Amino acid sequence: MSIEFCIDATSGDARAGRLITPHGVVQTPVFMPVGTLASVKGVPQQTLEELGVEILLSNTYHLYLRPGVEQVRAMGGLHRFMSWPRAILTDSGGYQVFSLSELRKVNEEGVSFRSHLDGSSHFFTPESAMAAQIGLGADIMMAFDECTEHPADRQRARDSMELTLRWADRSKKYFEEHKREVPWAQSLIEAGQTTVEEAATQALFGIVQGGMELDLRRESAERTVEIGFPGYAIGGLSVGEPRTLTQDVVAATVPHLPADQPRYLMGVGTPEEIVRYARMGIDMMDCVLPTRAARHGLLFTSEGKISIKNAAYAADDGPLDPVCHCQVCSRYSRAYLRHLYASHEVLAMVLNTIHNLTHYLDTMRAVRHSIKLGE
Ligand SMILES: [Zn+2]
Repeated sequence: MSIEFCIDATSGDARAGRLITPHGVVQTPVFMPVGTLASVKGVPQQTLEELGVEILLSNTYHLYLRPGVEQVRAMGGLHRFMSWPRAILTDSGGYQVFSLSELRKVNEEGVSFRSHLDGSSHFFTPESAMAAQIGLGADIMMAFDECTEHPADRQRARDSMELTLRWADRSKKYFEEHKREVPWAQSLIEAGQTTVEEAATQALFGIVQGGMELDLRRESAERTVEIGFPGYAIGGLSVGEPRTLTQDVVAATVPHLPADQPRYLMGVGTPEEIVRYARMGIDMMDCVLPTRAARHGLLFTSEGKISIKNAAYAADDGPLDPVCHCQVCSRYSRAYLRHLYASHEVLAMVLNTIHNLTHYLDTMRAVRHSIKLGE
């Protein structure tokens, strides 16, 4: 057993369900906060639990470079290392290699790159990316893919898609041969609490690529489904393309993904976008936007976006968002939040992030409620 996915209600193309992982149940559609370095910047794990976070995302590329996969494995895996008993998803490292690292070179075997931290040389292959993710031990891990740059001409998008398909095959093969090596299953087996055969394993998701070519997206979806995964992601979006194009690509891809399996749209989006994509039948999303924007004083509220550094809030005694029930809005004034931000107080980042995450999580709670009511 790795994961199980149950759809409890549908409304139009939208679905409300439960993703049952070895580390708890995740209600979908879900927004996954990003904890790049095994930490959602500024927010303690206990607070994330109180906010109702059931799954968070961590980045393989960053953890591979620092503190290193072996270090995390020796600590029992990411859950124990960061003291997060609920579900975790790790990306494959592919996206960060393509967006952050220097001097990367792609060939059939994999990608060589230099660390953005110290310039050291590394080589990722589908196999080593799987080994890294097994060592980290997230509940859900991602196949190693090439994130096609934008713009890319049609031939480039096709070649890149074909490479991702071959890498998906290799990712799955390595995963199947090594999935029993996940650190938390090892410790349960050693403690006699489960057997090698019965121990839960991680789940590996496939990733659809194909650039902005709608027919390639369809082909990529169909051929990734042929390889066979327990869930599918739509990757290679939010790479600088117009938002309407993102929507077109998602609309062209979703019908070719299995209806009874989870669909994950990577790297999206604003509060309006996560609602729109849930309506289109997406079950999982992640984005740095709410946490990163919070650290820059940009807050999402029921009345729209607020830049808390604005002088207009200096004497505003009202709550940040009058309809938000989060611990920030129920306790502090806009004037105080503006003061914290203007004074570069660490607490500004903490409080702003807690509010933004609450806004995203509440948005998804409302989406799930609406689906269950058939609205
Ligand atoms: Zn709030």
